[in-house]
Amino acid sequence: MSTSVETGSFKDYFRGLYQGVTSTAKGMWITFKYVWSHKPVTIEYPEVREVLPEKARMRLYNDSQNCISCTNCANACPVDCIYISSVSRPKGEDIPKTSNGQAIRKILTQFDIDTALCCYCGLCTTVCPTECLTHSHDYEFSQYAVEGFIVDYLDPEVKQWRDRIVKNP
Ligand code: SF4
Ligand code: SF4
Repeated sequence: MSTSVETGSFKDYFRGLYQGVTSTAKGMWITFKYVWSHKPVTIEYPEVREVLPEKARMRLYNDSQNCISCTNCANACPVDCIYISSVSRPKGEDIPKTSNGQAIRKILTQFDIDTALCCYCGLCTTVCPTECLTHSHDYEFSQYAVEGFIVDYLDPEVKQWRDRIVKNP
């Protein structure tokens, strides 16, 4: 009686061992098959960067030299995050032109966008008559404070990040 119980335990022991080894082997086979057959879906950012689609809408850029203060962009903005001020050009002063030949009758004194509010809909760029307001491909503009998202496009320093992405797309 005790011999058959011991034989059963012996068999159960090896059966369990066999099942453990085979199920581990099956699991590892599935794992390695996945590792060998699938390309990585992650990249070593920031050393490696994704190339964005040509029409990707990232950080806005206003080439303020070509802005005619028409306020079309601010009027089109669904979240009212574009702030523009301008003054009339003094009488008799030469009226400069934009790169596409439009008269710059007003002097732009403020062009700010609160990019924390912006939803990147692109409406403002669509209505800009001089095409000076565009989406860039820059998505690296995290800030420590929310106020940092208000961009003053008359500040010459703002051009630096534009230059960075143009040089290093
Ligand atoms: S992309 Fe849309 S939300 Fe952002 S500033 Fe332009 S119109 Fe406003
Ligand atoms: S629509 Fe273009 S030209 Fe008109 S105010 Fe906006 S950025 Fe300037």
